[in-house]
Amino acid sequence: MEPRHARYPFFASAREAVRASGVDLAALVADGDDAVDRGRERVERALTEGTVEPEDAGAWDTRDELLSYPIARILVSLLDSHAAVEKYAQAEAATAYRRFTEDLDRARDDGARREPARVDRDALLREFDLAGAVRIEDPKPGQVAGRWLWLDVGAYLSYVDPDWGDDWRLVNRELVDGEVRTEREELYRLLREAVEDRVAEGLPFEGVGEELADELETEISDLRDLLADRSVAADLDVVAPEYFPPCIAKLLGRAQGGDELDPHERFSLLAFLAGLNLDAEEAVALSGLDPELVADRFAYLRDDSGAQYPPPSCRTLGEYGICGNEDNHRSVAPHPLEYYSRKLREADEVVDWRERTDSDAGDAAA
Ligand code: SF4
Repeated sequence: MEPRHARYPFFASAREAVRASGVDLAALVADGDDAVDRGRERVERALTEGTVEPEDAGAWDTRDELLSYPIARILVSLLDSHAAVEKYAQAEAATAYRRFTEDLDRARDDGARREPARVDRDALLREFDLAGAVRIEDPKPGQVAGRWLWLDVGAYLSYVDPDWGDDWRLVNRELVDGEVRTEREELYRLLREAVEDRVAEGLPFEGVGEELADELETEISDLRDLLADRSVAADLDVVAPEYFPPCIAKLLGRAQGGDELDPHERFSLLAFLAGLNLDAEEAVALSGLDPELVADRFAYLRDDSGAQYPPPSCRTLGEYGICGNEDNHRSVAPHPLEYYSRKLREADEVVDWRERTDSDAGDAAA
């Protein structure tokens, strides 16, 4: 196990080092090994801070650091949540990005002097099969050497994200003989994406043994609560009441039927609807609640910057007496929005309630 493996545990050589060491991860968990604590910290910081850097770097050695990566993958798999996988992979990629940009900048400054834990550009490109896909442009007079390069268009398209904006669209790039002119920092951004894909690959995996899952029950329960408090609200803007979780469907049905909801019930329903990016008028049309009350609550749920007060988690809804966790519903997802997000992903076709015609409404009711 080498320091570079600990710094980049998703590299193929690092995974091989874990395999070759013959370490039994189940035994580590059963023994309460330090690597398990570090693995939990890895996931916890990914969910709460968007990084997997340790709080105290001196607390862990190379072995703990490297073995914490497969442990973290087990924990994320047991969380069995799309949001957890996404946040975890993004955090591993953000941390790797900070590390490799530091390594590459340092390599440029220090020339040939190499430190074993650090990675150089060739090794990084090889790791993602990009060694033959990048060609450094000869600098023009007055240009910094290595700032511009040409990247194979296939490699470029594999990692570029359509959400990054117009500057990344091929029509706005120099494209010559199947190569895209790219700045060094842009290549780093693409490599960050490659890391994220690598980390997310195969997650969540199935087949974590029952015994191992039982041993990690406390860690999983704590991580679920953390995840619930950082819900998937921002990703959801489809309104399809037939996929609402039972707690919200019940509250909505009662509101529509003219039942008076108590303050907790009203808050839970409106916070959920606001979490779907409904505006106050739409929430009134859907729920039948008093327009003045809804406008007032929505003003409170969203601040001036548009930030959203998070809807209550399943645990909080349990404390309000709104959810009795019937059929162990909470094991499906720790947050009503996450439950809803899952149902939407499983659905074949979803028509937004705001775009429905009368015949859609009839179909949905049938
Ligand atoms: S477990 Fe959560 S999503 Fe399911 S009914 Fe209860 S509060 Fe709603």
